Order: sequence, then C-alpha cells, then structure tokens
Amino acid sequence: MPFAAQRIGLTGGIGSGKSTVARLLVGRGATLVDADAIARQVTAPGGAAINEIARQFGSAALTASGAMDRDRMRLLAFNDPAVRRQLEAIIHPLVSQESSRQYSQAAQAGSSCIVFDIPLLVESGRWRQQLDRVLVVDCSEATQIARVMARELGRSGWTREVVEKIIDGQASRAQRLGAADICIYNDGLSLEALGLQVAQLASRFGL
Ligand code: ADP
Repeated sequence: MPFAAQRIGLTGGIGSGKSTVARLLVGRGATLVDADAIARQVTAPGGAAINEIARQFGSAALTASGAMDRDRMRLLAFNDPAVRRQLEAIIHPLVSQESSRQYSQAAQAGSSCIVFDIPLLVESGRWRQQLDRVLVVDCSEATQIARVMARELGRSGWTREVVEKIIDGQASRAQRLGAADICIYNDGLSLEALGLQVAQLASRFGL
C-alpha cells in the first residue's frame, strides 16, 4: 500500500507571505493546489463561472475580452456583502470541484504532500474536514499593509484604504491562529530565515 498523501491547508491574511511559503514548499517537492489560481481560471475568458456571472451581474461585470472584471467586482463586493455572497456562491463550488480533481490526480501520481493554498480557509469553514493539518502564515497588520502596498505599487485601485478594507473583510489574526495546527510567524524575518523554517517543516511533512 502506498502511503496516503498528507493534505496541508495553507492560509494567511493578504500580505502574510502565504504565496511565498507555498512556493518554498513546492521547491521542496510538495504539490500545490492553488485555490486563487483556480478562481482566476474559472473567471478567465471562457471559464466555468463566466456565463453565470454575466447572467447574474450583467455584461458590465466582464472585461472586453470576456473575463470577469476582477477590480470592478472586488470593489462592488466590498461595498455590498450581498454581492460578495452572490459572487462566492458562483465561484466557490467550482473552486472546490477543481481542487478535488487536482488533489486526486496528484495523489494518484504518488505525491506525498499536497499543499492546498486557500486564502479563505478559515472564513469558509468547509475546507477543514478535507485537510490533515492547517498551516497558518501570520504577521502584524502593519507588515501586511506595507507588503501589499509595495507588491501592488502602480496597480489602480490598490490604495491603502482598499488594502485595510480587504484585511477587515478577512478573518482576524486570532481566528486564523485559532484554526492553526502549525504557525509560521513571518514578521521581521529575512527571506532566508523564512526558507529555513519552511525547510524544517518540509521534513515534518515527509518532503
Ligand atoms: P500573500 O500570498 O500572503 O498575499 P506574498 O507571499 O505574496 O503574500 O508576500 C507579499 C510580499 O511580501 C511579496 O512581495 C513577498 O516577496 C514579500 N515577503 C513575504 N515574506 C517576506 C519576508 N520574510 N521578507 C521579505 N519579503 C517578504
């Protein structure tokens, strides 16, 4: 019997360094299932969510190329929780379905550790039962804001106010830490030091 693959749920607030940790784990041999990338895929031109988005929100929700207009919908969703729920009800089931498909494929291919990068793991509750352990990347809110402002420099719509609103709309640090089996405190830490912590974790994950 082959060993079952370990299923690690990776989460963290925006700017925590979650994607960086995901990349480092992949560098150590983990297979990544990226919920955000899947959400982008289903909202790209011809994606599985596009018809329903156009039906419920009208063609103004799409760009000229037929993708969901992400910046526009993000702003609408922030200003109206009903819009946010409506949009999530379209996109989340499609993301779950595709994540399961990618997981089965990786497990069948013999992957020993599958990392689910799930920004809303804590918020949406339904993921926990599919995971063996939850890894949370944590940092202070000031660090989150500084990192996101630097990363998104020059992109329209990414004001400090918007970043603060995104953080307010996400689970609190305490909620996230409450859901964690393992935590990386990625604050005041060089990228090298972060890499060392991830290397130690990777060996615990059988990588
Ligand atoms: P998230 O996926 O949580 O939004 P990212 O992994 O994209 O966050 O990190 C946000 C930004 O901060 C990126 O530009 C990344 O390179 C940088 N970053 C993350 N952790 C560190 C660190 N320990 N030292 C320096 N820069 C970091």
